[in-house]
Amino acid sequence: MASTAEVERYLSEALAIGQFKDYGPNGLQVEGRGELRRLISGVTASRALIDAAVDAGADALLVHHGLFWRGQDGRLTGWLRQRLAPLFAHDINLCAYHLPLDAHPLWGNNAGLGACFGWQADQRFGEQQLGFAAALPQPQTLEALQQQLRQGLGRDVIALPGDGRALRRVAWCTGGAQGYFESAIAAGADVFVTGEISEPQAHLARETGVAFVAAGHHATERYGVQLLGAHLAERFGLEHRFIDLPNPA
Ligand SMILES: [Zn+2]
Repeated sequence: MASTAEVERYLSEALAIGQFKDYGPNGLQVEGRGELRRLISGVTASRALIDAAVDAGADALLVHHGLFWRGQDGRLTGWLRQRLAPLFAHDINLCAYHLPLDAHPLWGNNAGLGACFGWQADQRFGEQQLGFAAALPQPQTLEALQQQLRQGLGRDVIALPGDGRALRRVAWCTGGAQGYFESAIAAGADVFVTGEISEPQAHLARETGVAFVAAGHHATERYGVQLLGAHLAERFGLEHRFIDLPNPA
């Protein structure tokens, strides 16, 4: 058991939240009870995940995608009221860590995705140094990498060929980081792996010869909360369970 305040203080420091310019607040977003025993983690603070946390008897819910994104107008009405009501009714804390949890070298989404595929980052790149890059354990074709990602992530992935070169260096950034493709190219990657694709990346891949892979926003961002949840469980003697709710995006 641990106090909510103590865990929040620890996370603020361990994840260096003050060092990031982010799209929403990092840390405790909805305050619940002051003592924690059971921690539930998941990717996004959706109504379905909050309901699952209630069913699981959670004292706190740890997510990567929280609430109150830049551009939201702040009114707690309609779907947002309905989403939050069970947290208040059951006194559950909601803790969200966005970019700090993409970036963390041990517990972050990028670190976790890399570990899953044997990519040991030897380089960081891009805005706020969120991108990771590594030499592949051995040179491989795009088809082989695509197959490996399909198997590891349990879903189809979109792969755009570059100039057909053997892939030696991989750059990656989980989630909606398609805008990092150019900085990945500048960092010397042969292939860039992220969650999503938008229209411009197809042209950039053709014109620069660097391959591009979109492997799913949700699928690539399931690592951070699991790694962090396991760490908190050990450090503070909590129970922890990750709940994965399918998302095709
Ligand atoms: Zn994301």
